[in-house]
Amino acid sequence: MTQKLSKTLVMKFGGTSVGSAEAMAQAVQIVKDAHAEWERVVVVTSAISGATNALLDSAARAVNGDLQAVLANEQWLISNHEKLADALISDPARREQVKQEIAQLVGSFGALCRAIGVLGEASPRAMDAVASLGERLSVRLLAAACESQGVPAKFVESTKLVVTNANFQNAHPDFGATTFATRSILNPLLEAGVVPIVTGFIGATPEGVVTTLGRGGSDYSAAILGAVLPADDVWIWTDVDGVMTADPRMVPAARTLLEISYGEVAELAYYGAKVLHPKTVRPVVEAGIGLRICNTFNPSHPGTRLVANGKNGKAARGEQVIKAVTAIHRQRLVTIEGRGMLGVPGVAARTFAAVASTGTSVPLITQASSEQSICFAVPSEAVDAVLAALEKVFATELADNDIDRVWATEDVAIITVVGTGTRNTPGVAGQIFSKLGDVNVNVLAIAHGSSDVSVSMVIESIDAEKSVRALHELIV
Ligand code: ADP
Ligand code: ASP
Ligand code: MG
Repeated sequence: MTQKLSKTLVMKFGGTSVGSAEAMAQAVQIVKDAHAEWERVVVVTSAISGATNALLDSAARAVNGDLQAVLANEQWLISNHEKLADALISDPARREQVKQEIAQLVGSFGALCRAIGVLGEASPRAMDAVASLGERLSVRLLAAACESQGVPAKFVESTKLVVTNANFQNAHPDFGATTFATRSILNPLLEAGVVPIVTGFIGATPEGVVTTLGRGGSDYSAAILGAVLPADDVWIWTDVDGVMTADPRMVPAARTLLEISYGEVAELAYYGAKVLHPKTVRPVVEAGIGLRICNTFNPSHPGTRLVANGKNGKAARGEQVIKAVTAIHRQRLVTIEGRGMLGVPGVAARTFAAVASTGTSVPLITQASSEQSICFAVPSEAVDAVLAALEKVFATELADNDIDRVWATEDVAIITVVGTGTRNTPGVAGQIFSKLGDVNVNVLAIAHGSSDVSVSMVIESIDAEKSVRALHELIV
């Protein structure tokens, strides 16, 4: 037997990587290979693709008394998970046991939705209880499928590992408590050569109430576990060959970036590239851990390696400045304007305090001279609450006509060009705007300069795809 690397690897599989029998078989093979090579391997898995959407959709419909969807989704969950059990668990007794656990969890999903139906409302806490079931189902299957291939594996619910606050649907981990819990539960398994198969996405409050880390949060789970163990490397297995120059669904010519800096990928993720959850980067950077993104369906491809940030905000010599382009949709641009704001201190502070009071975060801000207008983007679903908060906080100024109006556009998109040196390299902004001019796209707002590694522009939603494709032509 070859000598194992005396190291710890955390691997995360996304929904499509465990979403069919072929995919899960491939994931199991990857775990088997890693187990042979690395001393300690921890696996984090998402729910099978479609499961979290089905769960949340059912709960939302149950609020309106529509229990038909719940029935249909119960069937879907049972049949899709049983199909995987039939294909991947060789021991009949073990298969039966996993099927019973599936039936039990799906039963509790039905019960939760019916309770929601009776109440006519679903609290964020109840939504998390429902959403968590997808990962609680998939870990059981993946662990049993690994065992069937001779890999000693044990499923672990991360409610026992990841301790969070009670900010349901977007919970924040307590790293101290999570370090203690994770090490005490995972280390004995790892020392015994067992591969823990851990639920992504979920955690629990100190009292044990289930929380989730936000949609797409399994990447973040892998980073949290990697940071607290600590691991040497975290590998995110997904359905594309790593981080690409654009979303390949939007830009067929997109290609894989073999390397990207932590700063660049954080910017890409924050501005809409779904390939990595935006919160993933910070724990791994702070813990000094390697991060790699690779393709379950093409495991021999090296994927993307995250590397240290470029020096002095400049691209390395000979390196391409513009590395990738991304878009986020369903945003609104909010403007506060009025001559009475001219030079009045504190307008910006009051504006953003009001926005913050609605729990909304702001991805982009611009301001015209002397505070005559402030303009910023918010997610469309937050716009009503944001406008109401602003009208309340500026009620006196609006009544006195010091502020003329507070208003929002229809849906817009934010497109972001990412690359170290976009701020400090002459001519880059010119290239970007002339490219958009070539395809006749009007820019409604710009944020440039506060980041070393990105330029963001607000444009009409309808122009988003064509703009991303055009800007992608700047990447050679
Ligand atoms: P997983 O279920 O594995 O977490 P996701 O669907 O969350 O996978 O993320 C992978 C998807 O992200 C890809 O299939 C791709 O369509 C999309 N994507 C968006 N932008 C990019 C990008 N710049 N590079 C790679 N993939 C991207
Ligand atoms: N299953 C969760 C979701 O669909 C988390 C994840 O897949 O990362 O959002
Ligand atoms: Mg994802």
